Amino acid sequence: MESFEYDVLVIGAGGAGLRAAIEASAAGVKVGLICKSLLGKAHTVMAEGGVAAALANVDDRDSWKVHFADTMRGGQYVNNWRMAELHAKEAPDRVRELEAWGAVFDRTKDGRILQRNFGGHRYPRLAHVGDRTGLELIRTLQDQGVHRGLDVHMEFTIVSLLSADGRVNGVVGYERERGRFKVFNATAVVLATGGAGRAYKITSNSWEGTGDGHALAYRAGAELMDMEFIQFHPTGMIWPPSVQGILVTEGVRGEGGILLNREGRRFMFDDIPEPYRNQTADNEEEGWRYTQGDKNARRPPELLTRDHVARCIMREVKAGRGSPHGGVFLDIAWIKKKLSGAEAHIKRKLPSMYHQFKELGDIDITKEPMEVGPTTHYIMGGIRVDSDTQMSSLPGLFAAGECAAGINGANRLGGNSLSDLLVFGKRAGEHAAVFARGNRRGPIDGAAVQRAAEEALAPFDRQGRTENPYTIQTELQDMMQNLVGIVRTEAEMQQALGELAKLAERAGRAGVTGHREYNPGWHTAIDLENLLTVSEAIARSAIERKESRGGHFREDFPDKIAEYATFNIVTRRKPDGSMEVRRVPLPPMPPELKQIIEEQKS
Ligand SMILES: Cc1cc2nc3c(=O)[nH]c(=O)nc-3n(C[C@H](O)[C@H](O)[C@H](O)COP(=O)(O)OP(=O)(O)OC[C@H]3O[C@@H](n4cnc5c(N)ncnc54)[C@H](O)[C@@H]3O)c2cc1C
Repeated sequence: MESFEYDVLVIGAGGAGLRAAIEASAAGVKVGLICKSLLGKAHTVMAEGGVAAALANVDDRDSWKVHFADTMRGGQYVNNWRMAELHAKEAPDRVRELEAWGAVFDRTKDGRILQRNFGGHRYPRLAHVGDRTGLELIRTLQDQGVHRGLDVHMEFTIVSLLSADGRVNGVVGYERERGRFKVFNATAVVLATGGAGRAYKITSNSWEGTGDGHALAYRAGAELMDMEFIQFHPTGMIWPPSVQGILVTEGVRGEGGILLNREGRRFMFDDIPEPYRNQTADNEEEGWRYTQGDKNARRPPELLTRDHVARCIMREVKAGRGSPHGGVFLDIAWIKKKLSGAEAHIKRKLPSMYHQFKELGDIDITKEPMEVGPTTHYIMGGIRVDSDTQMSSLPGLFAAGECAAGINGANRLGGNSLSDLLVFGKRAGEHAAVFARGNRRGPIDGAAVQRAAEEALAPFDRQGRTENPYTIQTELQDMMQNLVGIVRTEAEMQQALGELAKLAERAGRAGVTGHREYNPGWHTAIDLENLLTVSEAIARSAIERKESRGGHFREDFPDKIAEYATFNIVTRRKPDGSMEVRRVPLPPMPPELKQIIEEQKS
């Protein structure tokens, strides 16, 4: 088997992985970068609305303190406060650095980086490039990485992390094109494998979002945290069925788009949560003025946090006030009543949305409303890491970006992911390089490598009554959507655990035919193991949290309970292979940060 050696090995070439690899390489260590798809095609490329950073270019009242308080309020105070603090303080520098590396952001009239409104952000804060910010971010980081001479292995799937003497020392994986296995010996490994939205039927996530990093880390003995917190973005496409789940950026609402039920009522004004009452517009006129930059106006209720907006949409649909295909209407065309040249403005500010609806749904969003409904978008939970270094509980294993947990708490604010990738990607790369310099590379155990390859190839060897991996994956997605979805109950989640055990048993019999070269059935069989692990962690953590908070809503416990704000839920693999679930107290917050939160409540 071909083998490679690196000081720092980064798994994943989205925003977090690229930023980590650039930083480790700048520290002068030998860096390898591995990704499942082609370089430049990671899920980050799909990000639309922008990157959150308190640059205060559009509203000079903004600052890291306001961003910190907004992030904590959005996460309903179970965030890792230190990560929220670092993120708010460092995001502006990371965005300016991106600009210095060549990212071409939209500009204010006086030539600074333009910032737009987004849900839960008190002031316009999202640096953006139309609604194609992820593309620009990836393009810029990729240029920088290629320039640094990063060693990239693309279309390569990692199937196992290797460890010895209580720390990680490498990985095993296979080329998707040829099916050939390779082993990588590394002193430090950074996981930046993104999300797990593919555990659900309706999702905005790309095919790569199968929770690989979560599952790899878990199997290697690292801890997962906050897995109950899944973000259901309120506005996914719902029609036609073939495009169900594709994201409609919050930028539409940031630019003045409004949500209406079938009666034409702006239902978001009906239910404004107490913590946001003082910051939310009293009437439609004030909301419109806010979107147009009036500093004396407060945000429209469409820009409340995603968890709340998604639930309000569900309420309208359940009450029979939904749109014909089971969602609600999102209308940006209405702004022509207010703005001359509105059609051109919409096409300029939301070009991808215009094309998405025109081409996929034959709808002209400059003239008619869109139909939208919630879609599984983001996982707040992930690998438990140290706030400053991003190292997991397994020495030498680091994690950054969507596969790591902590910064978002119970709910992520839009735009805070791209900034998370930059801030914590950089930190992970920096500290992985420090770790690599300070430790010797441990030798690889050849038997463990052999075992990993044999397990991955097992679906080819199964004979007799085998199962189709696609069928199991589809049933898993349906089951998670129905039993561990937006609205949860104890009984349904217990049922989900039973179903998961049956699906896992069937996955053990999943068989594939043909050869190893680009064999999608085989890839699915491998993804399935990861999806099952992640789904179990989600269900078990959600059962443990007997309250409703952020993205986690329990019909049987519909209120927030103060006691539950004092801990995170952590899962870990026990020696017998079963999943341990425990409550881990949140570290006490320093008084100066508490004071910032209090000051920003008004
Ligand atoms: C449509 C859409 C729009 C969004 N818009 C915004 C926005 O405007 N602002 C914002 O802040 N957030 C946005 N988000 C969220 C944000 O884009 C993601 O959270 C973020 O891009 C995740 O980045 P990442 O670097 O963690 O992982 P990803 O970009 O998902 O990259 C993961 C990488 O890991 C690799 N990988 C995975 N598993 C393996 C494996 N087993 N072996 C090898 N490689 C592997 C993949 O190939 C890929 O290279 C949006 C999300 C979606 C779906």
